Amino acid sequence: MAVTQSVAGTLFCKFRGKKGNDVKLTDSVATLPGVGPKRLAALAALGIDTIESLLTYYPFRYEDLSVKPLNELTDQEQVTLKGIVAAPPTLTHFGRRKSRLNFRLLIGQDIVPVTFFNQPWLQKSVAADAPLMVYGRFDAKRMALNGMKIIGTNPDDPMAPIYPANANIRQTTIRQLIVAAWEQYQTAIEAIIPPAIVAHYHLMDRRQMIHDMHFPADSDAASQARRSAKFEEFFLFQIRLQALKHRDQTQQGIAINYDNEQLKRLISTLPYELTGAQKRVVNEICLDLKRPIHMNRLLQGDVGSGKTVVAALVMYAAITGGFQAALMAPTEILAEQHANNLQAIFDGFPVNIALLTGSTKAAARREILPRIENGEINLIVGTHALIQDTVNYHQLGLVVIDEQHRFGVGQRQALREKGMNADVLAMTATPIPRTLAITSYGEMDVSVIDELPAGRKPVTTRWIKDAQIDSAVQFVKAQLAAGHQSYVVTPLIEESEAVDMRNAQAIYERFSTLFSPTYQVGLLHGRMRNDEKEAVMTAFKAKDFQVLVATTVIEVGVDVKDATVMMIYDADHFGLAQLHQLRGRVGRSDQQAYCILIADPKNEYGVQRMEVMTQTNDGFVLSQKDLELRGAGDVLGKKQSGVPDFKVGDPVADLTMLSVAQQEAKKLTDDADWQTQPTNQVLVHYLNAQSDHEYMFD
Ligand code: ADP
Ligand code: MG
Repeated sequence: MAVTQSVAGTLFCKFRGKKGNDVKLTDSVATLPGVGPKRLAALAALGIDTIESLLTYYPFRYEDLSVKPLNELTDQEQVTLKGIVAAPPTLTHFGRRKSRLNFRLLIGQDIVPVTFFNQPWLQKSVAADAPLMVYGRFDAKRMALNGMKIIGTNPDDPMAPIYPANANIRQTTIRQLIVAAWEQYQTAIEAIIPPAIVAHYHLMDRRQMIHDMHFPADSDAASQARRSAKFEEFFLFQIRLQALKHRDQTQQGIAINYDNEQLKRLISTLPYELTGAQKRVVNEICLDLKRPIHMNRLLQGDVGSGKTVVAALVMYAAITGGFQAALMAPTEILAEQHANNLQAIFDGFPVNIALLTGSTKAAARREILPRIENGEINLIVGTHALIQDTVNYHQLGLVVIDEQHRFGVGQRQALREKGMNADVLAMTATPIPRTLAITSYGEMDVSVIDELPAGRKPVTTRWIKDAQIDSAVQFVKAQLAAGHQSYVVTPLIEESEAVDMRNAQAIYERFSTLFSPTYQVGLLHGRMRNDEKEAVMTAFKAKDFQVLVATTVIEVGVDVKDATVMMIYDADHFGLAQLHQLRGRVGRSDQQAYCILIADPKNEYGVQRMEVMTQTNDGFVLSQKDLELRGAGDVLGKKQSGVPDFKVGDPVADLTMLSVAQQEAKKLTDDADWQTQPTNQVLVHYLNAQSDHEYMFD
């Protein structure tokens, strides 16, 4: 560690004031001198109410005021120079407001010209032949300094902290309050992270850390302190998350004693061998089903990794244990497709499937609902119609949510409540970047299918400009001649289904002409009725036509094995996750598949996304990239991402530290007695005292 306690102690001995026995970090900032109602409100707006929150209101950067030798400076570096003022300064005025103050600083053998613009009052601080320290931007070519601030002869802080401030409270006020708080409360700062962890990761002692965040001796001390502060923030966050998870798990859940022999028999009838990853996650989920705790598990698997069959197997397990299972999909097309697939998988097995969507006719509902209520129907597939009040289950044991990111938080919760203690398996094909998996989904257990079925070839992706469409059309023709099929996705116009449809219509007509009379073209858009969409998909699967022009209706889940080309218009209008989903519609067999992105991106960000798409097929890499390019809030929408606002840590940039903190928090809380162990007392006390400041979860 760069700075020891004793060095910091001598530097700031003047702050060593009252003994801290009677003061607590939970005291209000109102106890500090000069904090009245007005200032209290201004501080509250910055999230500062207690001494703790003030002391952890960290600077976001520092101005390094330590003096450096001239020959070590680089151009435009911000530095402090120390020298003797060579001659009286000159002040020149331009008009009424503008001015320039010039003087020369003698540093050893060198003379450095210093200029201050528009700060005429500084003239009185610059006396000829006196020593002076000046902070500013160094111009290496002219060997001159563009002055920013006069420091005098003896700087208080070698590193000047800069705090986020606002119009109601100034930088200097915040600084004064922090100095006062440090003076009165430093002895009340206790170590909250267990000593073994502090030692193992070479973290700073908490008091030293807070000290060095506000009063670092040099930039090394500042960055060491920041590293410790980040760890603390991530660790505390993870402890809360793990505690939440343990609370979830100790809630009385149901133990599903499934019949392993029957499950094996179903597996043996599948037309293919399960991948290793599929077997592993089926085991993970089944273990959870058996335990009398509430399962809250996320199943991640890239598009085409075969999540549906995993869902089918574990739902069957629940059914053999005497429970009902439900599968909820985000769209009717998808729900219908699932119902059909499941019907085929369960052919010959004692499973009664019902499909329940918004367009299920009243008569059919009247017939289905009582049979769900009396348990005769044991597998219910549908859209969010599943969670309507009129649906009563007999004994719902497992709920599977497909494409879970498509559902609002509220809908997920409603289903959870509907099923009372039913175990929940949320599936997602939008790979969740590690950052989000650790933060937003941190309270869930995660199973990952990280292997595609054997024989799949990675989709070859090309990015072309609008002007090159003709060659792309030639390419599609060649694929069709080889007996394949192609998707053409039309431009996405945000918020306007009507415009989307007109666009799709136009492209449909153009392609019909282009391919006529050899090949047929079909059209699918959001304005069509569900039975119309269904009919189009069925016809495409049956190869009644070879090219399907579609809006993003086809984005999720649809499965047509002979389709080998995915052509996407205005690809730069889509997010990376969405492009990856669309691309996942092809390459679902052992035939080589292609994705053609048509785009003339308007900005660098668009160019980057097109390039990333051509470079990788790995959904995890893509989603992490998406997060980096756009920031966490935008990937799933600010509300849904649930990524908390960390104060010092950056969950994307500091991912490694975040996962280390997660592991440590997990290790700690996995011990059932952690809260009563002596080494954790301060931590437990701290968490309880801070409960008002808890991060919000969905
Ligand atoms: P996703 O994970 O994207 O939902 P699906 O469950 O739709 O993927 O599966 C994609 C395709 O792969 C389906 O046609 C499915 O029948 C097939 N499939 C699933 N598992 C295997 C496997 N182990 N071997 C071969 N094909 C498989
Ligand atoms: Mg799927």
